[in-house]
Amino acid sequence: GADDDQPVHNGQNLRSPICCIMGHVDAGKTKLLDCIRGTHVQEGEAGGITQQIGATYFPAENIRERTKELKADAKLNVPGLLVIDTPGHESFTKLRTRGSGLCDLAILVVDLMHGLEPQTIESLNLLKSGKTDFVIALNKVDRLYGWKTCPNAPIGKAIKQQSKDVMIEFNMRLTQVITQFKEQGLNTELYYKNKEMGETYNIVPTSAISGEGIPDLLLLLVQWAQKTMIKRLTYSEEVQCTILEVKVDEGHGTTIDVILVNGVLHEGDQIVVGGMQGPIVTSIRALLTPHPMREFRVKGTYLHHKEIKAAQCIKIAAQVTVSFS
Ligand code: GDP
Repeated sequence: GADDDQPVHNGQNLRSPICCIMGHVDAGKTKLLDCIRGTHVQEGEAGGITQQIGATYFPAENIRERTKELKADAKLNVPGLLVIDTPGHESFTKLRTRGSGLCDLAILVVDLMHGLEPQTIESLNLLKSGKTDFVIALNKVDRLYGWKTCPNAPIGKAIKQQSKDVMIEFNMRLTQVITQFKEQGLNTELYYKNKEMGETYNIVPTSAISGEGIPDLLLLLVQWAQKTMIKRLTYSEEVQCTILEVKVDEGHGTTIDVILVNGVLHEGDQIVVGGMQGPIVTSIRALLTPHPMREFRVKGTYLHHKEIKAAQCIKIAAQVTVSFS
C-alpha cells in the first residue's frame, strides 16, 4: 500500500523494458538478435546454447544509433532494452512459458516464406494468456525473388527500391499471413499503415541477414513500451528478481543467474534464495554481466558492478552459504 509514496514519473525514472523474442524454430530469432548485436551466435559462435534462457542488454545509445535514419529526434526515456531469448525446440515449452512470463512485451518472429507454424501459434497462445503485447517481425524479406538488399535500412526505404514483381509477391505473402492471424482471432497490419495501434497488432517486415526493418523494429518496441507502460516501467525500491539457474562456476564459486526485473542490487546485499531444502541466506560477493550487446549465455569476459539497476540479466557470485534450513 505504498502507492502514495511512488516517485512522480519524470521521464528519467524508468527501468529498461524486458522484451521476449518468440516464434517457430528457424524463423530467425537468433539471427535477428545477431543482426542487432553484430554477433554470430547463430553460426555457432557458442555451440549448444539452445537449452537455456538467454538475454542481451541493448543500451539506449545503441538503439539511438541504430534508429537515427528513421527519426533523428527519437526520444528514448528508458535506459535500454533487455531482450530475453528462449529455446525454440518443442521440448522447451516450460522454459518458453517462464521466459515469456517475465516480459513486458515481445517480438513474435514469423518466417515470411512459411507463414504461421505450430510454434508460432503456441507462442501466440502464451502471449495471449499472459496478456503480453507484441510486435510481429515478418522475417526473411530478402528471400523474396529479386529482392534488392539495402543493408540495415528502414523498411520503407528498402521497399521503395523493389521492383513491381517483388512487391506483388510481398503483398501476396503478407495478405496470407494477415489472414492466418485473423484465423487465430487477431487483427494485424503493417505498422506504418496501422491506424488502430493497440487493437491491431503491428507487423514489421525484416531481414536478419541484411538488416532491413531492424531500425523500425527497435524504435517501435521502445516507443510502444514508453507510451503504454509508464507505470509498469517505473523504478520500484522493491527488488523483483527471477532466478534462472544456480551453479558452481569456474573461478566464481556458487553463482546465481538472475533476471533483475525491477529495483537495484548492490555488492554486499543480503539475499534469500529458495533452495530445494528451504531458504538459503547468502550475500552478493560480486555482480557480473556480459558486455552490452553480448549474449549472456556465450562465454566471454564479465563486467563487475558495484550496483546495477533493472532490467538486467546478472550473474551473482554468492558468498559461501551461511545457513540451510
Ligand atoms: P531460430 O531457430 O528462430 O533462432 O532461427 P535462426 O536464427 O537459427 O535461423 C534459422 C535459419 O534461417 C538460419 O539458417 C538463418 O541463417 C536463416 N535466417 C534467419 N533469418 C533470416 C533472414 O532474414 N533471411 C534469410 N535469408 N535467412 C535467414
